Amino acid sequence: MEELNVKLANLIFPEITETIEDLEKRFPKRDLPEGAEVTRFAPSPTGFLHIGGLFGSLIDMRVANQSNGKFILRIEDTDKKREVENGITLLVKELKAFGINNDEGVTGEFAEIGEYGPYKQSAREYIYKVCAKELIKRGRAYPCFCTAEELDKLREAQERSKQIPGYYGTFARCRNYTVEEAIAKIEAGDKYVVRFRSLGSHMRKVKVQDIIRGKIEMAENDQDIVIIKSDGLPTYHFAHAVDDHFMRTTIAVRGEEWIPSSALHLDLFNTLGFEQVKYAHTPTIMKNDNGSKRKLSKRKDPESAVSYFIEEGYPADSVIEYLLTIINSDYELWRKANKTANWREFEVKLNKLNSSGALFDMVKLTDVSKEVISRLNSAELLELVLAWAKVYDNSLYELLNKDLAYAKQILGIERDNATKIRKDIAKYKDILPNIFYMYDELFEKDIENGYNFNLNNGKLTMDDVKEVISNYIELHKQGLTKENWFEEVKKMAEGLGYQVNMKEYKANPDAYKGSIADVTGIIRVAITNRQNTPDIFLIMDVLGANKAQARLEKVLSI
Ligand code: GLU
Repeated sequence: MEELNVKLANLIFPEITETIEDLEKRFPKRDLPEGAEVTRFAPSPTGFLHIGGLFGSLIDMRVANQSNGKFILRIEDTDKKREVENGITLLVKELKAFGINNDEGVTGEFAEIGEYGPYKQSAREYIYKVCAKELIKRGRAYPCFCTAEELDKLREAQERSKQIPGYYGTFARCRNYTVEEAIAKIEAGDKYVVRFRSLGSHMRKVKVQDIIRGKIEMAENDQDIVIIKSDGLPTYHFAHAVDDHFMRTTIAVRGEEWIPSSALHLDLFNTLGFEQVKYAHTPTIMKNDNGSKRKLSKRKDPESAVSYFIEEGYPADSVIEYLLTIINSDYELWRKANKTANWREFEVKLNKLNSSGALFDMVKLTDVSKEVISRLNSAELLELVLAWAKVYDNSLYELLNKDLAYAKQILGIERDNATKIRKDIAKYKDILPNIFYMYDELFEKDIENGYNFNLNNGKLTMDDVKEVISNYIELHKQGLTKENWFEEVKKMAEGLGYQVNMKEYKANPDAYKGSIADVTGIIRVAITNRQNTPDIFLIMDVLGANKAQARLEKVLSI
């Protein structure tokens, strides 16, 4: 180490007395079982959790948990401009809402757990400076005095002459100052940042190993990037190398937009003497927009924010299970074979991740969600709906709370002990439109605008409707059972001139008044004012025979 370099390092970082070696001791290699992976989710506290962030953190958590490793939440708050108040609280809350729990790192605005912290980058200034100071001592970092205007001019000149942009080689003016010159400038009060001194050449190639994509070849780094900004905080690149080394991360799962920077990161790790972290660059979540793929945009697509799914009332498990179908295409097969298993039992395989883009498909998510909800029993569903409604739909909350046992019975229709389970509900917001008719006051309000009888394209009249209803009332009074209901209704229908065999009806519709579907449809609308509902017998059963009868009689009075 040259004495002058040491002098420069002490001038820039007089307060730093520790060395990289000291840090190595302070943050020793983890004592974890063979194969255990240490991953981290490293968002900026912008108060906005993007669906891509949930996707990444889910992978992080699963890879760590399934290998008995550690999953860290690290906050990358070195860009003070992007920060929002309570950003961390919001983030932690949203992650928790989706069952993403970290073993280590930040757990709240001012709280963290683990031995490898601090886990907020703004609190790690000292650690970055230890590493930067050492690079300066070794002649591998230097102060750069270029102003923003000078750098703008440099970029323009490079663009004009079609050269690779950046601060490198002969363009890196400040790397050529002698150490004495640099010291003199600092002593004269010139402002500076600290830059890395790369010894690379973009004429040479390097290979970056990626678990998802295999080996990626790219030009070696030769950029003298800024490592410590004028505010004393590190850039992403430097913090990545320092943090992932000293937090003993084994796999950095991060977005594919970082692939081009990987050569630089390799350069930094090597120069710092750190063992290279393994990479898994995940695909960007895209959306199909009228046939062309584009990134999910924060501004245009509400579904880019995970808060959207919470507000709309998608169960957290639905969003997670949908993301798992994007992560590993065999998830659905696994789910079919393991109907009651928790998604945490599925093994996420990083090397099976589709690298060629992840398409976010709301229709598919809706289907997955219907499946997820169909696996819940009425008690589980009621609990989830109540928790959601309490925050997002107060009138639903009050409605259900009027009689919780009744609410549970309603949600149990075609669910509890059912042979065929209903799959018409994708989110809690769908519930009210599907159950309102179980409540007299809402049903009454709904029929104020008239009944939705399907009169089979004019084939049936309101007199026909009333004829069906008045005959059915007689049957209803006898107290039918689930077993004989349909048989009795069919007999009644036949007696009134309706065909009970749909095939025969379709072959010769003019020969009959209508079909059995018309008859059950009339009963359904009289009770619910909807043409599609779960089993109408079950609905009447929960509603109660007297209420059902009153609704039937009401039709006769119009
Ligand atoms: N804060 C960086 C980002 O949000 C983290 C990237 C990484 O995981 O290394 O893109």
